[in-house]
Amino acid sequence: MFALGAVGILAHGTVNTVPLAVPLLAVGALLATFMRAGLTYRDVQALSDVHRQATTDELTDLPNRRWLISQLRQRIASGDPVALTLIDLNGFKEINDTLGHHVGDAVLRQVATVIDDAVEGLGRATRLGGDEFAILTDDVDRGRECAARIDQRLGEGLLIDDLTLSLSAGMGVAAFPEHAADDSSLLRCADVALYDAKRTGMPVAVFDPRDDHHSRDNLMLTSDLRAAIANEELTLVSQPKVSLPTEALVGVEALVRWQHPTRGPIPPAEFVPLAEAGGLMRALTGLVLRAALEQTRIWLDSGQEICVAVNVSASDFVDSGFPDVLKALLHAHDVPARLLQLEITETELIRDSERTTVTIDRLVALGVRVSLDDFGTGFSSLKYLQKLNVQELKIDRSFVCHMIALPTDAAIVRCAIDVARALDLCVVAEGVEDEQTFEMLAQLGCDVAQGYGIARPMPPRDLEQWIGDRRAIFA
Ligand code: C2E
Ligand code: CA
Ligand code: CA
Repeated sequence: MFALGAVGILAHGTVNTVPLAVPLLAVGALLATFMRAGLTYRDVQALSDVHRQATTDELTDLPNRRWLISQLRQRIASGDPVALTLIDLNGFKEINDTLGHHVGDAVLRQVATVIDDAVEGLGRATRLGGDEFAILTDDVDRGRECAARIDQRLGEGLLIDDLTLSLSAGMGVAAFPEHAADDSSLLRCADVALYDAKRTGMPVAVFDPRDDHHSRDNLMLTSDLRAAIANEELTLVSQPKVSLPTEALVGVEALVRWQHPTRGPIPPAEFVPLAEAGGLMRALTGLVLRAALEQTRIWLDSGQEICVAVNVSASDFVDSGFPDVLKALLHAHDVPARLLQLEITETELIRDSERTTVTIDRLVALGVRVSLDDFGTGFSSLKYLQKLNVQELKIDRSFVCHMIALPTDAAIVRCAIDVARALDLCVVAEGVEDEQTFEMLAQLGCDVAQGYGIARPMPPRDLEQWIGDRRAIFA
């Protein structure tokens, strides 16, 4: 309006005589409006940059989760069919841990390009964060086609810093309106499909409502477990560990038990992973530790020093406050730290080796003993073992069970005992089911044995009776 006014005044000035100040002021007004328009243009551009940044992933330049959610909402609100494919790389954490973050970043950028190329003409690729990507297509078939292309291309290998890395991914597809009615349930369905792909080892799975039942079932069981932990409904059983060859009791392993009110007993192999996935591990470990120390106190009061071993998970160790909690618990029950042992599996340890080694050092400094459980099932190198501050190796029961029948298993057990010897660690064989195994282990120089052949896990109050009743087991 100001510009138009100024132009009008200038036009008027060309036919009529006006004071000089009038055209000068009009030109000034014209310039000022141009400047203002320029500034506005710049602001608008900056705003669109901010908007683009807010919806773009910095590392890969792909649209991000925010963009994905807003697209899903828009398309679902307008009733347009849409399929969501979630992609999760396999083994990315190992790449990051072993080759470093800059290789990890390079991998993510290349994977982003692979995915972006694969969806060309079929849909849009996005990065959700970490090693998770997603694709939006119009339907399930297109999602599946993109997934097949991605799987093939990743398998051919990516060239990164002179390294050819062959990768794979798990992918799960779900669609609106077939499977879900809103964005958050669509994400959940695609997640269930992704989980199914990972579980079966297939590159891609399409959402199947039956899987959803399974995951709902797990969800329900997890919430029952949460309640059971809160109400302290879980109990412990104790399984004796005896020394070889004297058969003297050296301690017990505390194993958790859950009697579900309607489903009956649920084995720990089933509910411990649920506790892990549902973020209940700390609560579970806390409960087990308290119960184990309470029992140790009862034994101490009756004049018996019995060492108790408790199973812990890597997620317990991620909490840097864990050693302090443990110290307080030992103090509260007035139990000396040397009577407590923590068992952690080899595979768990390797998941977050740096942090766990620091925590282990602090625990050992408290006087607690740490045992490497299920030894032989993971991939720890001897170099790594040497650095690890553990005092005991427990040879996995899968080798011990069959060592009489299978010479290869016997060879592994022998080898594990040698490793423990070389590193000056106490070595325990678990899964000792018969006398022959017991004797062979004694001959090989194994220190401690545990298994059904010696004693089944039993309620702790039965232990005294077991100790009293027992003559030599394998006399
Ligand atoms: P694990 O730590 O390897 O525990 C030993 C498992 O082997 C126990 O099964 C025990 O009952 C079983 N076992 C003992 N002797 C024999 C034998 O001679 N032959 C055979 N075939 N098996 C034997 P359980 O109690 O079902 O526990 C399974 C796994 O669940 C444990 O494996 C451990 O990883 C986990 N777990 C148990 N209790 C706890 C707990 O309180 N906290 C955590 N985080 N995990 C636990
Ligand atoms: Ca164990
Ligand atoms: Ca074990």
